[in-house]
Amino acid sequence: MRFDVITLFPGMVESMTTHGVVGRGIEKGFIELVTWNPRDFSNDRHGTVDDRPYGGGPGMVMKVEPLRATIRAAREAADPAPVIYLSPDGRMLNESRVQELGRYERVILLCGRYEGIDERLVELEVDATLSVGDYVVSGGELPAMIVVDAVSRLVPGVLGHAESASQDAFADGLLDCPHYTRPEVVDGLKVPAVLLSGDHQAVARWRLQQALGRTREKRPDLLERRGMSDSEHALLEDYRALQSN
Ligand code: SAM
Repeated sequence: MRFDVITLFPGMVESMTTHGVVGRGIEKGFIELVTWNPRDFSNDRHGTVDDRPYGGGPGMVMKVEPLRATIRAAREAADPAPVIYLSPDGRMLNESRVQELGRYERVILLCGRYEGIDERLVELEVDATLSVGDYVVSGGELPAMIVVDAVSRLVPGVLGHAESASQDAFADGLLDCPHYTRPEVVDGLKVPAVLLSGDHQAVARWRLQQALGRTREKRPDLLERRGMSDSEHALLEDYRALQSN
């Protein structure tokens, strides 16, 4: 999968290429990450990309022309791809949107800065907008990096078998179960005995039960949306009984 990121701070985004899962995905050839700097497409020698807002007010606004030229160059550089603007007024990013994006061969991510982007550029060139939450960060780079990271995890081959994304929270509409590693006892707190039992079926059952119980406790909205099978209902009842003992 290829990500093209349009950003005034390419170095921020490129820092992903040498770290962790995305870095490995690039090294193994499953992921390509290309950055485009709108300053390189500005038509003045200062590389101007922003201007004062019509109507007054604080801050600057990113101009149409340098961004339009950058987007067009990015579009033409490889296979067709949707242009996604990271913006607080976009659709909220969640696991099903991450999965939707993962079905593309390529996406172009547009990062705003300052007060944002001239609305006409959004109307003319942007196919979708995505928000990473109801808060404002200073630029679209961190949101774009979240998208690159979350989508890369789903690209076949990027995660090793042992860290398969199908085990992660949200993959099955549930939060993840708790995890433990050595030592067996920390300040008197023991690893649940079932995890030491070697009984794979019992471990799988316990993990599902914990995931159901935690989701009920922490994010009941997720469970309501997802629904439960009869056997999951029974597991959750057991979980409640265990908690109240
Ligand atoms: N004036 C804008 C507003 O109030 O919605 C905020 C602009 S913000 C300082 C600059 C850029 O950061 C935005 O153009 C967008 O690309 C990015 N950004 C900020 N918060 C974001 C969020 N929650 N999700 C996605 N992108 C965000």
